[in-house]
Amino acid sequence: ETSAPLLAVRGLEAWYGESHVLHGIDIDVRRGEVVTLLGRNGAGKTTTLKSIMGILPKRKGSVVFEGKELMHLPARWIARAGIAFCPEERGIFSSLSVQENLMLPPKVKPGGLSVEHIFTLFPNLKERLSSQGTKLSGGEQQMLAIGRILRTGANLLLLDEPTEGLAPVIVQQIGRTIAQLKQQGFTIVLVEQNFHFASSVADRHYIVEQGETVDMIENSDLERNIGKLHAYLGV
Ligand code: ATP
Repeated sequence: ETSAPLLAVRGLEAWYGESHVLHGIDIDVRRGEVVTLLGRNGAGKTTTLKSIMGILPKRKGSVVFEGKELMHLPARWIARAGIAFCPEERGIFSSLSVQENLMLPPKVKPGGLSVEHIFTLFPNLKERLSSQGTKLSGGEQQMLAIGRILRTGANLLLLDEPTEGLAPVIVQQIGRTIAQLKQQGFTIVLVEQNFHFASSVADRHYIVEQGETVDMIENSDLERNIGKLHAYLGV
């Protein structure tokens, strides 16, 4: 029971209309782990997160979270089970202030972080409390987007390219936040293009190729696998 993964994805397939884009995704995530999905553009990483979250209509396979099959539940029930998704486009409301954005998401479970707690993770946000979403830098918007999902009480966070387009110093800050969240007991699955960042935060990496998970590499084994990884990612 203790060794059962928090999230177990088996044979996950997904379609956009007639277009079959996921052909077989298998992922295990243990409680408290940080796991990345790596792969080339268009490999299906974002689609994998959306499919776990239930926001794609046509799916097949199995997604078990805390021992419960989620596959046939609508997205709002999956959120209530304790999973939150932070999209690449961040999804914050530009006309609302930082504080209003943080107050927006409903708590779906007990244990959602207070706004004060979120400010201890992101002190910059506190200084921008009454700033409108549009006035924030890219880094501040990303922090707000992550902060916002922490309000919900979810314990599994799905983050889509949290470092995209951000300056190196902000990327480091996001990395420290992810480490803090891990320490506080959150489990995180993130899609990353920034391989250096991925290796600095994650315990394990899944490689996604053409809609399938083709390999899993422990972060501690990364150096031995660097050649293989370069071949997968084409870098
Ligand atoms: P990227 O880093 O470029 O976002 P990814 O690995 O996250 O890559 P996905 O965004 O999951 O890849 O896309 C997987 C495949 O699904 C691609 O071939 C893409 O063109 C296709 N796709 C993505 N979104 C849609 C959509 N809304 N409608 C139709 N096809 C889509």
